[in-house]
Amino acid sequence: MTKEIPIRPEIRSLRAYRLDDEEPYPVLAKLDFNESPDDVPEDIRAEVLERLKARRWGRYPEFGASRLKKAIAASIGRSPDEIVVGNGSGETILAAVSVFAGGGTLVLAPPTFSLYGQIAAIASARIASVRRAGPAFAVDETAFLAEAAKGVPLLCLPNNPTGGVESRVFVGRLLDAAPVVLLDQAYVEFARPEDDFTGLVGSRPNVVVFRTLSKAYASAGFRIGYAVAPPDLAREIDKAVLPFNVDLAAEELALALLARPEGAKARVARVVNERGRVAAALRAAGHLIAPSSANFLFVGPRGGDATRVRRALLERGVLVRDMTDAAAGRLRVTIGSAAENDLFLSALEEVS
Ligand code: PMP
Repeated sequence: MTKEIPIRPEIRSLRAYRLDDEEPYPVLAKLDFNESPDDVPEDIRAEVLERLKARRWGRYPEFGASRLKKAIAASIGRSPDEIVVGNGSGETILAAVSVFAGGGTLVLAPPTFSLYGQIAAIASARIASVRRAGPAFAVDETAFLAEAAKGVPLLCLPNNPTGGVESRVFVGRLLDAAPVVLLDQAYVEFARPEDDFTGLVGSRPNVVVFRTLSKAYASAGFRIGYAVAPPDLAREIDKAVLPFNVDLAAEELALALLARPEGAKARVARVVNERGRVAAALRAAGHLIAPSSANFLFVGPRGGDATRVRRALLERGVLVRDMTDAAAGRLRVTIGSAAENDLFLSALEEVS
């Protein structure tokens, strides 16, 4: 007799993430993954390769990643015992959701980062949703606070894919209302300094902030992210990640990048500048734009058929994300180099 294979229903019902096999158009502007238009500078690449050559590849990375934690902590003015390092920040979000909301309820404000659904399923957490609404896709604060008191809120600020940040006053009320609050700040470097909530870790016992080197530091190909939390919470989150999760290469790259943050700052400033230019051009052309504090824009193309527009852009070598499933008529477009952005703007005019 064959036995039924025990696949958890919440895993079975997840839609496997896959990218459609589409005809191979030459890619002229890759604006679909919120990556940096610039790569890690040549001198840092060379330095990392040299350091890697000097290390023994047959050994595990440093146990506990204390050099890396120290460098991360110094870069954000926190202390190493508040840092949990991850194979990308996604890994630390999964760990924290497992620790605080596993088997319980995760409170989300969709449209938001699609990975949270998968993370909730892996951690056996139910999702309570409070939908964003209006032209800025703002959180319904009263409804969210009411849900947050009954579960574990996870907010993305700036929010992927809509781009906005909630106010410090609201975040404060959330910290008063919920036992623990999870704040995903993957895009915080592109926002105003006052939208950075990392400092709350020093004054609030129940906040966890997630950050990454994938975006502002242009290093998504190496997986380096982290959680910042009061030391007692950081210790618990650390128990839910496997040892040696950040490998030698990622560790060396992170150390090199964090030692010279000026380059990343200049790249971020260029993206922020381009974001203003692209948003103004889109608005002038009659497209809808939600205010963005991130390295992408949530665009409602004229005519409202995001699926058709994405496809037509693809045929012109411009890759953007169709967000129809999250919000009807919307595309998410990463801010690229000036040339890529110009290509996007002119292609969009052609197709809409
Ligand atoms: N949070 C948000 C909101 C994101 O958009 C992403 C990446 N797209 C991540 C977390 C994960 O980033 P990483 O794992 O590369 O650090």
